[in-house]
Amino acid sequence: MERRSNNKKLTYILTAVVVILICALCAAVFFFVKMKNSNTLYKEAQLAASQYNYSKAIDILKSDTGKSLIYNQTIEEYTQKMNELELKEPSQTPHIFFHSLICDTQLAFDGDEDAAGYNLYMTTIDEFKEILEQLYKNNYVLVSPHDLYVETENGFIPNEILLPAEKRPIVISQDDVNYYSYMKNDGFASRFVIDKGKVRCEYIDQDGTVSVGAYDVVPILDDFVEKHPDFSYHGAKAVIAVTGFEGAFGYHNVIDQNSPEYSEECDTVRKIAETLKSSGYDLASHTYGHIPCGTSEIETLRNDTKDWSEQIGSLIGGTDILIYPYGEDLTSDVYYDAYEDTPKFEILYNAGFRYYLNVDSSHDAWMQTGTRYFRGARRNIDGYRMSHNGDEMSDLFYDLSKIYDNRRPSVGDLN
Ligand SMILES: [Zn+2]
Repeated sequence: MERRSNNKKLTYILTAVVVILICALCAAVFFFVKMKNSNTLYKEAQLAASQYNYSKAIDILKSDTGKSLIYNQTIEEYTQKMNELELKEPSQTPHIFFHSLICDTQLAFDGDEDAAGYNLYMTTIDEFKEILEQLYKNNYVLVSPHDLYVETENGFIPNEILLPAEKRPIVISQDDVNYYSYMKNDGFASRFVIDKGKVRCEYIDQDGTVSVGAYDVVPILDDFVEKHPDFSYHGAKAVIAVTGFEGAFGYHNVIDQNSPEYSEECDTVRKIAETLKSSGYDLASHTYGHIPCGTSEIETLRNDTKDWSEQIGSLIGGTDILIYPYGEDLTSDVYYDAYEDTPKFEILYNAGFRYYLNVDSSHDAWMQTGTRYFRGARRNIDGYRMSHNGDEMSDLFYDLSKIYDNRRPSVGDLN
């Protein structure tokens, strides 16, 4: 009788111990998950704050139910920093642009028929990396054209750019991100690919070895901003412009419905466009056929705009930014009425374009707004500009000689 009662006691004790252990384990898992979530949120808040988006950072911290003392202190610190930000004048913002970067200078400057053009209009990877370093050290911060001016019922008005006193905004764009056939075997990346959720470049070297990495503006900029998040305003990076006559991002079959690769390449381009947009890039049209918009016949512009919208815009999710090929604007007339009243403007406006970007390096920054558009000038940072007008870039760089790639042939040595 006594033994049975002892056994019963032992069973009770064992059950109790097991229940307690399970409870302790559940509690540990619960707190671990909670801590991990808190950590992720804290990191997200830190990133937003480092990119001057303090209100977002504060909202993230406030959204966490397990508020701690550290959170309250951080919210206080962010609030103080937010109050110290200064409103920047958007019209003073320089806009610089690039073409595909040269990975292999030997191949690019091999003396073939394209070499002279590459020397004039392209920038090497080493130059671009040094350009980013100098812009960053000069306190520039990347913004989007959408950060400069916004469309309202009363036309385009200045947007609020709030940055610390010493910081100044800048826009970067890249034209012809198409990896054209003529550039094959000339030392450039061959296309964009998605690698571990990021947009990287595929590069085929002289021996035919294929590698994936930072071989052009996008992945180099991504890596740079990852290292220096405060180089980006609210996550903004650059404007990426594509034509259409050879597809987009190096996928040439997306305009050929009869190609066996058609649907797979369309899916890839869609994914690349989504990834670019979610990581701070604006996409832009560079027209379908790289046409000079000012001098083209109106029917040419109409058909070209339709082709770009149907074949490329539909894949990349549309855009309201147009980058004029050759920098050739509809008109050089500075009076917006003459600009906005042209029938060509109606074609572009009806296709959804609101931000129009040309090329003009004669001012540090130039922009103009109307009731239905924002128009801005961009400055080319390439071999031509660096060898001819280096002194015009002193607002951007402190040592151009450190940027200029000495592997370039001197302009004139190539025909
Ligand atoms: Zn172009």
